[in-house]
Amino acid sequence: MTDAATAAVELFEQVYGGPPAGVWQSPGRVNLIGEHTDYNDGLVLPIALPQRTFAAVRPRTDRRLRLASSGQTGQTEVELDQIAPGHPADWARYPAGVLWALARAGHITPGLDVAIASDVPIGAGLSSSAALEGAVGAALSDLAGLGLLADDEGRRQLAELCQQAENEIALAPTGGMDQAASLRSRAGHALYLDCADGSVSHVPFDLTAAGMVLLVVDTGATHALGDGQYGSRRADCEQAASQLGLHSLRALDPAELEHALGDLSHQRLRQRTRHVVTEIERVRQAVAALERSDLVGLGRLFTASHLSLRDDYEVSAPELDTVVDTALAGGALGARMTGGGFGGSAIVLTPTEAVAELRQAIDQAFLQAGHASRPTFFEAVAAGPGGPA
Ligand code: ADP
Ligand code: MG
Repeated sequence: MTDAATAAVELFEQVYGGPPAGVWQSPGRVNLIGEHTDYNDGLVLPIALPQRTFAAVRPRTDRRLRLASSGQTGQTEVELDQIAPGHPADWARYPAGVLWALARAGHITPGLDVAIASDVPIGAGLSSSAALEGAVGAALSDLAGLGLLADDEGRRQLAELCQQAENEIALAPTGGMDQAASLRSRAGHALYLDCADGSVSHVPFDLTAAGMVLLVVDTGATHALGDGQYGSRRADCEQAASQLGLHSLRALDPAELEHALGDLSHQRLRQRTRHVVTEIERVRQAVAALERSDLVGLGRLFTASHLSLRDDYEVSAPELDTVVDTALAGGALGARMTGGGFGGSAIVLTPTEAVAELRQAIDQAFLQAGHASRPTFFEAVAAGPGGPA
């Protein structure tokens, strides 16, 4: 067992006494490309990370959910019938929301004692929230005998229920990428997900043979999706689609983009639309680049994505720009912010031999820029999806 799995079991025994019925896990993710496209019915290309969240769980005979997490002080509990939008407070909403969504879908779920431990950085744009939902969802699927982990169709359903938990109980208006990445990925592959219909394919993603590394840089700058920026971007996209008479911006053909921009009422909406449409196209191009092992091309797409997110979508942050600028100046093939933005993490595609120097240069650049946080680094590989630990 990994350290976090052991920590979940130890926390369980300490808080509840006795052993859990089992331990389940689900990973964090890093998105290669396709940012702020999921809620536009667009395309995304994340990988699941080796870092994951573990849930040690035991069913209860009553309708109570008790929760403890090594990441959070104290314990909390809620009656299943009292789970509602925004209730319970704080982090307990995410696991409680999963129970709620499963029950609403007609599944009979037991009360639970749950202990959580995780090595996914929290609030770093690496989707600790979906990892938490996925671990609890996997546990419930097995404990309630739902069999949702058995095949991709079941996993698609579970991911959708976890997204409902995040949207409707945790009140974070995110798209479906994170839960799909956590529950439907395949080791050694990126998940090519079409958010319009939930279909997936698995694109081989292994940079080692090419002597390359995907370096994740957690800027340490906090992102808060709940601060309204995420929701306002979503609203911009809905407004733009509605002005164009489209169901979503996915329906806008890239060849029609320039023409369509002229039909939008505000410069802001033109910028948002241009980002979404060009970003969806970049995902297609990134998959094609990976399929022909064109990492130079992939790197260029990363950088183009960052500029679009920075200038048109306006979701970058000074710390993220520092990472990207420094990485590019230091010989990286490409770099971009990843995740929702406003802080969180960036990814850098770089030759392995340049990693040590790049890390130093980025660290140095943070000091020079006077950023309050220090960056931390890890090299990402594409790992497997959630399930029994
Ligand atoms: P991200 O998903 O990028 O890490 P979010 O803001 O979407 O950031 O989710 C972070 C929130 O998820 C935390 O503030 C907390 O409420 C909850 N969370 C995630 N992981 C854990 C954990 N291991 N223990 C307790 N709460 C967690
Ligand atoms: Mg999240």
